Amino acid sequence: MSTTVSAERHNVVIVGAGLAGFHLASALAKQGYPGDVTLVGEEPWQPYDRPPLSKQFQLDGDESHIWLAPELGPAVRLLRQCHAQAIDLARQELRLDNGSTLPWDRLVLATGSRARRLPQWGASPRVLTLRTLDDARRIRDALQSVASLLVIGGGPIGLELAASAAALGRQSTVVELAPRLMSRSAPAAMADVLLEHHRSQGMAIHLGRTVVALDEGNAEAVLDDGQRVPAGLVVVGIGVQANDALAAQAGIACDDGVFVDGWCRTTAPGVFAVGDVTRQRNPVTGRFERIETWSNAQAQAQALAAIWCNPAAARPYDAVPWFWSDQGSARLQCAGAITGEQQAWRVDAAGGRVLVHWSGGQVTGVATLNAARDFVQLKKLIVPRPTITPEQFRAPTANIRALVQQALAA
Ligand code: FAD
Ligand code: NDP
Repeated sequence: MSTTVSAERHNVVIVGAGLAGFHLASALAKQGYPGDVTLVGEEPWQPYDRPPLSKQFQLDGDESHIWLAPELGPAVRLLRQCHAQAIDLARQELRLDNGSTLPWDRLVLATGSRARRLPQWGASPRVLTLRTLDDARRIRDALQSVASLLVIGGGPIGLELAASAAALGRQSTVVELAPRLMSRSAPAAMADVLLEHHRSQGMAIHLGRTVVALDEGNAEAVLDDGQRVPAGLVVVGIGVQANDALAAQAGIACDDGVFVDGWCRTTAPGVFAVGDVTRQRNPVTGRFERIETWSNAQAQAQALAAIWCNPAAARPYDAVPWFWSDQGSARLQCAGAITGEQQAWRVDAAGGRVLVHWSGGQVTGVATLNAARDFVQLKKLIVPRPTITPEQFRAPTANIRALVQQALAA
């Protein structure tokens, strides 16, 4: 495929100083990109990492591990507290909320996503969401003075936070609308194992339910079946929406996410997008999806930097999606698709669980719980890579590392 990239000098403006924006800027700087690089962020802080915010940060409040910026270096101009308001495609300018404009030859949208809210309780100071450092600080402060946390939504945010609150000695309850946990991102069979794990640790989980009323006076919530659950603090973790307003307003194709190809190009010449805000082709499912993971934000941004800095070796980005989620003592890792017409389990000697999915004879998905080494090996087989069969995988004497190496060498 021919691309329009070249290593000529281009003035790059990146909107969004989150994980993807940071990795693109720092990779360009490290690889000696010949143009100017400006990173525009609306938050007041230097770029930071979000994963600790629902996990370790809630336990110890230590912010020293979250900052990404020491690696940014002087080659990148970072503008903080600047909200980008509009893109002028004809003039190749970006308008900021302080009235100034930035000219660009290449514009990159790295604006991420924002937490979905429940509008009926948006005004209550006891009902919070978790996306930013400020959100995390607010939740941590609130947790100091309450006896219980109610999380609405049984996805990774809700479960991680509920596990952190439980570790702090708070009574943790999760209410999930779907009949299972992690319906968007983990296989059903693994979600059942997680459910059992969390309940065994004392977490109350209500599936197929939602909250219909808050009784703030009694620090309780009322579910749609009439049950009352403790709710000293409520955190809503019901998914995210793409921050794609800038693109939509400029007439760039988007649908809760900016459409990009393997070269991170949007439908507007000179405008690119990376990270949570993109809607990209998932190489495993073949569908255009938003891939809302840390690894995608980092790898897609680094792929774009490589495309620009070394056009001769450029190849389209097509990494297999994967994520991890630390929920108390449970480390969940998932890669590829969460379904397939065949599946098989293994439980290792230490109690770690490994679940593999096949479709059309190919490994299409892997999910593990506290089995990180096997995850790393099996992930290598996900299509379009070589494969192993369910029979080989199930054989009690089989060594996973040897199996994978055999398949890769074949
Ligand atoms: P973001 O990190 O959202 O950054 C986008 C930035 O753009 C934000 O700072 C935003 O303020 C800024 N911005 C938006 N619009 C504008 C504008 N108009 N002008 C200027 N700036 C703008 N993933 C995992 O795989 N594993 C995990 O364990 C994990 N844990 C997580 C824990 C938490 C609490 C959260 C919130 C997310 C977690 N994730 C995890 C998801 C992961 O952090 C995201 O996928 C990743 O942050 C996406 O990076 P991004 O740069 O695309 O978007
Ligand atoms: P998810 O979309 O993964 O999960 C939200 C869950 O809430 C879904 O199961 C959803 O069910 C459910 N839900 C929706 N509406 C209601 C309701 N009214 N009442 C009860 N449940 C409801 O998003 P999260 O909020 O967990 O995570 C937000 C973002 O942060 C995502 O981008 C995620 O990838 C990222 N993140 C990733 C982590 C990781 O990978 N370790 C950790 C933390 C965050 P349904 O699907 O039926 O709508």
